[in-house]
Amino acid sequence: MAESTTYERIETPVLIIGAGAAGLRTAIELAQSGIRCLVLGKRRHGDAHTRWAAGGINASLGSLDAEDRWEIHAADTLREGHFVCDPRAVELLARHAPDRVRELQAWGCDFSRTEEGGINQRYFGAQSFRRTCFVGDRTGEAMLRTLVERARALEIPYRENTFVTRILVDDGRARGAVGFDMDTGRFLAFSAAAVVLAAAGHTALYRRSSSREDENTGDTVALACGAGAVLRDMEFVQFHPTGMIRPPEMRGRLVTEAVRGEGGRLFNASGERFMERYSPEQMELDARDVVARAIYEEIQAGRGTPGGGVRLDISHREADFIRERLPKIYGQFREQGIDITREPMEVAPTAHYAMGGVMVDFDTGATTVEGLFAVGEATAGVHGANRLGGNSLAETVVFGQITGAHLAGDLALTGTSVPPVGEDLVREEITALSRLAAADGEHEPRELVGELGVLLWDHAGIVRTEEGLGAGLATLQGVGRRARSLATAGTAGTEGLEWALNLRSMLLAAEMILRGALLRSESRGAHYRSDAPETRAEWRKSILYARNADDTLRLRTEPIPEPPSSVQAALDESHELDYHHLE
Ligand SMILES: Cc1cc2nc3c(=O)[nH]c(=O)nc-3n(C[C@H](O)[C@H](O)[C@H](O)COP(=O)(O)OP(=O)(O)OC[C@H]3O[C@@H](n4cnc5c(N)ncnc54)[C@H](O)[C@@H]3O)c2cc1C
Repeated sequence: MAESTTYERIETPVLIIGAGAAGLRTAIELAQSGIRCLVLGKRRHGDAHTRWAAGGINASLGSLDAEDRWEIHAADTLREGHFVCDPRAVELLARHAPDRVRELQAWGCDFSRTEEGGINQRYFGAQSFRRTCFVGDRTGEAMLRTLVERARALEIPYRENTFVTRILVDDGRARGAVGFDMDTGRFLAFSAAAVVLAAAGHTALYRRSSSREDENTGDTVALACGAGAVLRDMEFVQFHPTGMIRPPEMRGRLVTEAVRGEGGRLFNASGERFMERYSPEQMELDARDVVARAIYEEIQAGRGTPGGGVRLDISHREADFIRERLPKIYGQFREQGIDITREPMEVAPTAHYAMGGVMVDFDTGATTVEGLFAVGEATAGVHGANRLGGNSLAETVVFGQITGAHLAGDLALTGTSVPPVGEDLVREEITALSRLAAADGEHEPRELVGELGVLLWDHAGIVRTEEGLGAGLATLQGVGRRARSLATAGTAGTEGLEWALNLRSMLLAAEMILRGALLRSESRGAHYRSDAPETRAEWRKSILYARNADDTLRLRTEPIPEPPSSVQAALDESHELDYHHLE
């Protein structure tokens, strides 16, 4: 870590923190409208989490099921979000996803085709029709490659290995950010006319997660909250039903829903196809929360495998079909000596997606702080209490385009001149970072992060109780106390500082999850309270989270508006997946 507290000053009309599909799609829209921006990410270009997305992106193209339309996509999203989604967000998502998918194809994304040459679509859980467009099981990788190529063609600058630690807010307006170069340790101060937060979620908080361990570490929560923005839905964390359970270094790694979408069946250790008991109509393709809870209950009841999971089997399908549709999963298990064309996979639930995040106005991407915008997994409201598989990739490009277009229009009116950020604000953050980097206390940040993972898994996991959440909060206080004495100095490069910052963000996200889950005294979607198993009409509202001046948190609730009449009509028609197509 650099000894000096000197820093490099960088000016840009728009600063975009995050280079996944959401950040890049925003940048592309700005560049196409003639507005310059700078995109930052913690890794090299093209290596954001989006690259890991596997199964596909939803859009009601009706390539195979001509009856599908955007209103039914919206209705499915609201129903599976258990009616606490922002209806306007859902409407925009479902209306615009077809255009965004066709646009990706026009830019070179190589979607699988039907025999007639249209974009192919597969089944995904809890959707009325085949709506999920895909590139084998490497959809995110193909999408991100397309967006990176487009961004490069538009000469959008990208700064890699950059860790943003604070958004600078002066006089109530976001004016830039401070961070450091993860290669050199050099401090960086960015000034901007507008800042877009696209730094994704916080599922790495959990002991078993489908994220890489240093991604989805809650940076969005800390950055937004530090800037004074309001967050929502933090109590809702999605557990994907099927993650790998071994070897240890692959624990939690996703086994895409596409396996079940292509006909994969779940069995307990006695060979029983147990989804017949939990969801006889939709079986393995019921919503993620339903399937994850079913697997959890099988394991808890002692009907799991000796490794602590259940079996997912697709070997009844042709080997060539499996290798063509699921090449990544085929390879992932082949490396472990398992041939999924002949034998089942051992799987268990894994923390997968944060429905909670920054509250925004979805027509503009604006947060509650002037000059600060948010997009992608960083935001909350599209998915409510439970995300439909395939909706997140759709969210990144739909709201990236909307936010970029709004900002471009705004800046065309107000101008792109960049007022310099206050020297005192920059110095304050850099001094705090220098102290943290040199901390010579007792506790390794990474060890405390590990403890947090166990705490969250045990106390705020698939099944929650008032008692467990209360105990979790008490334990969290202890971890928080120890986090005041960190041993960061002496680690190579900036690694110690990075983990100390991850810990800081994760402590905040953990407190929000635990307190929100305690407050929500009902069960809804991914939030299941075994001591309050009913969904309660009076809880059809969001929990909002904000920071008080003394750094404590305040929680309040807000009612959810009704959906537009066309979407309500689609809800009333009650479309349902005909699962037995797959049999
Ligand atoms: C294994 C897996 C499979 C998935 N499969 C699907 C699927 O099939 N369909 C679907 O719809 N969704 C899927 N998802 C979810 C989906 O991939 C993500 O929600 C989506 O890609 C998020 O995109 P994003 O642009 O918001 O964030 P990301 O792609 O996660 O990008 C975040 C960016 O922010 C940067 N960043 C973070 N913190 C900082 C900081 N402090 N300073 C600077 N930069 C920072 C990161 O470096 C990165 O560039 C999957 C997720 C996983 C984990």
